[in-house]
Amino acid sequence: MNNQNNLFPLSQDQKIIDYIFGGNALITVRNEDSKNRFTFKIKKCKNPKAIKIDLYWVLVLTMPDNNDEKSYKFIGALSREEGFRHSDKSYIKDNAKSVNVAYYYFNRLLGYSKFKLHDNIRTYHMGYCGRCGRLLTVPESIDSGFGPECSTLLNIPHEVREAEFKNTLFEQNYRGTEDYQIK
Ligand SMILES: [Zn+2]
Repeated sequence: MNNQNNLFPLSQDQKIIDYIFGGNALITVRNEDSKNRFTFKIKKCKNPKAIKIDLYWVLVLTMPDNNDEKSYKFIGALSREEGFRHSDKSYIKDNAKSVNVAYYYFNRLLGYSKFKLHDNIRTYHMGYCGRCGRLLTVPESIDSGFGPECSTLLNIPHEVREAEFKNTLFEQNYRGTEDYQIK
């Protein structure tokens, strides 16, 4: 299945931060003016030897098939405590655009820059739970990016404001079909 076009907006910085540190996150970051975008996978490191902080690996989608693990290339590490750092072990060099975008995006999002993310930078999840990676189906899960059980385990609110949900559904699924009605 090609899920490339299913983009669900994460509407607040806190939701984005909760999602990217869920353990199994898949996000697309898009500049809404230029439409340039990168898709990042952020996975929790299972064996952080002698490291006291929760460490996450960041991979970037480099090939069209977003369901193939081999399409994602490791670029660096991420933590709440230190932000994003490129890794020397990555085949993608630190002057690559994806690495520059990762520095810009994660470090501004997490407050490691005196500047905030520009308003035209939006973050989307792809319809998969940020913790377990399963396909999300209920509206509350689409809103937060986590299924009911994973929300509970992570202590993340599993609710949605009605107006926000309607807007999301409309924009994602019914664009250009304004006469469509849910019966
Ligand atoms: Zn889950």
